[in-house]
Amino acid sequence: KASHATARTGDFARAPLPPMPSRRVAVIGAGAAGLVAARELLREGHAPVVFERAAGVGGTWLYDDEASADPLGAGGVHGSLYASLRTNLPRESMGFLDFPFVADEDSVDPRRFPGHQEVLRYLQAFARRFDLLGLVRLETEVVSVRRGGDASWSVSYCSRKLAGAGSDLEEEQSEVFDAVVVCNGHFAEPRLANIAGIDGWPGKQLHSHSYRVPDQFRGQVVIIIGYNPSGMDISRDIAGVAKEVHVAIRAAPAEMESTTAHANLWLHPMIHRAEEDGSMVFQDGSRVRADAIVHCTGYKYSFPFLGDDDGGDSVITVDDNRVDPLYKHVFPPRLAPRISFIGLPFKAIPFLVFQLQSSWVAGVLSGRIELPSPEEMMQDVAAFYTDMEARGRPKRFTHDLGAGTFEYEDWLVERCGLESIEEWRRVIYVAARGRIRDRPESYRDEWDDDAQLLEQAHRDLGKYL
Ligand code: FAD
Repeated sequence: KASHATARTGDFARAPLPPMPSRRVAVIGAGAAGLVAARELLREGHAPVVFERAAGVGGTWLYDDEASADPLGAGGVHGSLYASLRTNLPRESMGFLDFPFVADEDSVDPRRFPGHQEVLRYLQAFARRFDLLGLVRLETEVVSVRRGGDASWSVSYCSRKLAGAGSDLEEEQSEVFDAVVVCNGHFAEPRLANIAGIDGWPGKQLHSHSYRVPDQFRGQVVIIIGYNPSGMDISRDIAGVAKEVHVAIRAAPAEMESTTAHANLWLHPMIHRAEEDGSMVFQDGSRVRADAIVHCTGYKYSFPFLGDDDGGDSVITVDDNRVDPLYKHVFPPRLAPRISFIGLPFKAIPFLVFQLQSSWVAGVLSGRIELPSPEEMMQDVAAFYTDMEARGRPKRFTHDLGAGTFEYEDWLVERCGLESIEEWRRVIYVAARGRIRDRPESYRDEWDDDAQLLEQAHRDLGKYL
């Protein structure tokens, strides 16, 4: 206990990992990232234990009818899915590398861009196929992760199960692990737009985190802020029942002219200010008197269980959505490989990136894959930040892979000694991304992907069926 309290980063990083390839690893979260991390750790011969505070596996895809009681999304509800949600990626690109996301006799929705229930079914099938369910401790929330003096981690958790069935009582316990893999997701802590005058604005406000169905907006004038895939979907969902929907988007003028199938849906530039008579004034001076705002403005990274270790010597810090410092979005250099983060990047193919990152982490933990020195990793992080600054990229885009996503995947593939990513996966992904913008109403049901490419995809995926 005393050494736990006094362990500093330096001691911790210097303490050698025990000379054995198999580590006992705590994985936090049993969403897509946590499940594939457990699978890759197992494959490498490690012994993962997965902590999941929900009653089932699947994370985001475990649809929760009950949104947070707070319309702006505070209050600890994890799920951010709305009832009508269908995937924004086609199956071929979305699935894990060697466990195809194809429609089969168990499918609840065989469409190429299926509803959320089908993704949950897929993740549950993945967990069963690779014997992961026995590793997952459900209804068990990790409340703190602290460094021990002997290069281990003490993971404390509360479990409803320990306290007995039907009980709300939670009992805190701790266990020691060689390594921790953080897979807690980053779509649960809402970020809101700053709007001048919003405190005096009389309307109703909601964050997309708390949005499930459109009924409450029937006959109303609604403003949607943000035009990411959720903003696009939710604006159309609400336009089906509302009187008018006005979407405030950060976009070039050409995009503003994009057509929509809904006669009651308009695009505007961002909001300039809110007024006490209910008006919203946009940056071009136009104004709309509205009943409600839906903030589709994204989420914040949050790791409440990490806290400040040893009086301020924290594992990472989060500032304007930059999780710092992380080598290649995964390892804090001074603590690598004993703690890692899976699934932080966005504007990428999520499941694929989770799997590649997990394979890298598992290989580094067993000593099969080498990491650069902590100093070299810190230099890499510093160079990355300098490059972002030079390009005028704000901190909040640190984990936005955007145009660099394939390069990042290839880098991981090379580290892990894996086969290169299939070309069709990328071509199909890029085509789907383009169609979201151009045809938000119909991209999930009408496509013109090259038939031979799709055939090739299904031939390749067939190898794993
Ligand atoms: P999550 O799925 O959020 O899982 C994290 C898990 O960690 C949760 O189960 C949570 O309960 C658990 N947890 C958190 N804290 C603790 C703790 N302290 N102790 C124990 N457990 C904890 N991706 C796609 O590929 N295609 C799509 O079409 C798509 N659409 C999306 C639509 C929406 C609205 C959203 C929000 C996301 C969408 N995504 C999509 C991205 C999606 O988030 C990823 O696909 C993926 O499911 C994220 O997985 P994850 O494991 O990183 O996080």
